[in-house]
Amino acid sequence: MLRKSVAKLPDYVSDSTPERLAKAAGLAKLTRLSFNENPVGTSPKVKEALANWAFSQGRNYPDPDALPLRTAVAERLHVNPDQLLFSSGLDEMIALICRTFLEVGDESLQPWPTYPEYQLQAAIAGATTVNAAVRPATGLIDLDDLAAHITAKTKVIWLCNPNNPTGTYLPISQIAQFMKRVPADVLVVVDEAYIDFVADVPNPSALSLVTQFNNLLVMRTFSKLYGLANFRVGFSIVPQRVIAKMQNVRLPYNISGISQTAALAAWQDQAFTQTVKQQLLTARQQWSAFFEANHIQHYASQTNFMLYQVADPQALGAFLKQHGYLVRDSMVPGWIRQSFGTPAQDAEMRQLLLTFPKTDTEVPN
Ligand SMILES: *Cc1c(COP(=O)(O)O)cnc(C)c1O
Repeated sequence: MLRKSVAKLPDYVSDSTPERLAKAAGLAKLTRLSFNENPVGTSPKVKEALANWAFSQGRNYPDPDALPLRTAVAERLHVNPDQLLFSSGLDEMIALICRTFLEVGDESLQPWPTYPEYQLQAAIAGATTVNAAVRPATGLIDLDDLAAHITAKTKVIWLCNPNNPTGTYLPISQIAQFMKRVPADVLVVVDEAYIDFVADVPNPSALSLVTQFNNLLVMRTFSKLYGLANFRVGFSIVPQRVIAKMQNVRLPYNISGISQTAALAAWQDQAFTQTVKQQLLTARQQWSAFFEANHIQHYASQTNFMLYQVADPQALGAFLKQHGYLVRDSMVPGWIRQSFGTPAQDAEMRQLLLTFPKTDTEVPN
């Protein structure tokens, strides 16, 4: 009954909610630091815009072009509005890319570890995922190894920058060099879910390369910096030569009017996003200093989360959960990925880490 590619998938496992997980564990509350959600919250301008949203619009299908949002995004990013594609979060975008470019027998190439959704959606499309290396010492994607894994079957290459879960960032000059080694008919997807958190780099985005390479697609989301994960809005800057087909593969009304309204209000409130960036940069500096001081191996993050090495991630994960915090303890063997919380939550987390007897304080070679 099932398509072969679907029959081969692992069974779905729900992430549940912090509320239900807390209840099941007999705890009053669990704070989720495992989803890289925005600890500051959502702009009050979004609340205002939603209060003004015309309820009478409820019976109508939403704007299929998301035109006001499209115009605002195109203006600020200096891109052609017709090359923007909106999706119900980047997770839908990833599915959309796989449905558009991959079929049985194709190869989807990625560094590993990276965002797991690429592999899942590629598998659903029937393609095989090929993994290239991340440099163990630095957590940086090894672009030479990635290029070395390109074959005649490669159709899509995923480059998450900064990379989830390592948190590390590759300069655009290196991505430009890499692009020159990629055949023109292979799509390179640069996932910039965390690009706004990159500090001290004047132009961190691969957007500056889209006019130069017509096989480059850049993805952005409203879920992280803008604190709109619940509203499910993401977008891509898509090569001109494939945008019309991708638009047709997209479900016509994939973004509700409420979500379009929320995203536009969030996009326009730059004062709020500046506050978020500043708070998360401070959190990052504090966490780096903490890991340095305690000799805990970690990668240089340019995001709102960090990956650090511990002797027994599951034991630490269970300990933190008992004390009210959820982290990723089984994404990368031997490592924990943890989002930054509020200043108070982060301070408590650092106390907990110092209390935990098994935190690995050895620096590996
Ligand atoms: C969170 C995340 C996404 C998905 O974001 P949504 O827009 O909420 O679907 C995509 N890519 C990476 C690397 C992420 O961490």
